[in-house]
Amino acid sequence: MEKGALLYEGKAKQVYATQDPERVILHYKDDATAFNGVKKAQIADKGVVNCRLSAYFLEMVRPTVPVHFEKQLSPRDQLCRKVEIIPVEVVVRNRIAGSFAKKLGLAEGGLLSRPVVELFYKSDALNDPPVNEDAALALGWAKAWELLCMREYALEVNRILIGFWDGLGVDVVDFKLEFGRIGQQVVLADEITPDGARLWERGTGRHLDKDVFRRDLGDLSETYREIYHRVFGEQVS
Ligand code: UDP
Repeated sequence: MEKGALLYEGKAKQVYATQDPERVILHYKDDATAFNGVKKAQIADKGVVNCRLSAYFLEMVRPTVPVHFEKQLSPRDQLCRKVEIIPVEVVVRNRIAGSFAKKLGLAEGGLLSRPVVELFYKSDALNDPPVNEDAALALGWAKAWELLCMREYALEVNRILIGFWDGLGVDVVDFKLEFGRIGQQVVLADEITPDGARLWERGTGRHLDKDVFRRDLGDLSETYREIYHRVFGEQVS
């Protein structure tokens, strides 16, 4: 499958048309951004690491969660079903961190007694503001059954990710998912990578995610190479 026209360029990926109107190619770039694009950098091999990690996790959840991903075409390219993106981002939290800690005046790190699902309106112009289900319904962004699917799929992804990372001694603090629709089906779209998740090494609390870049905690390229090695048991080549 060859890349056709560039349909869309986001902060970390490009979306290309293919000869098949129902399929697109996602190309993973090395660009990292934070604070809605205010902070930017090139992170060597980030695209390669995230492309393989996302393919791996999307395959892992596929048995119970429909996904847009079909196959990896090259180290930076994935063939995916074309979806209509639902403009509601779903965040799942297991521990207190980030905007949740800030808005509630809580210290980061505390374990939540059950996962918390939050919704955000996908809008760079507005900095992804929090929304609730009523707003998403009233504004026509999603149907009630779609929101229900998104919540259940997000919690299922959470269970799977917790189980996987637990085996590697890493806590899944929180992560963000995006969903799309194909006809009458809701599918997990976008990516599952450390760009959109908080992963803390158990015991040390070391960040194995994009907070290393956001908070100037070290070399993100090295951190991502290390994650790749931990997950796949080999170096990024
Ligand atoms: N997140 C993301 N994209 C965003 C905002 C958040 O991928 O535009 C992820 C982030 O990496 C974290 C989770 O969603 O794993 C929760 O983020 P939070 O709401 O705490 O916001 P932040 O502190 O990152 O601004």
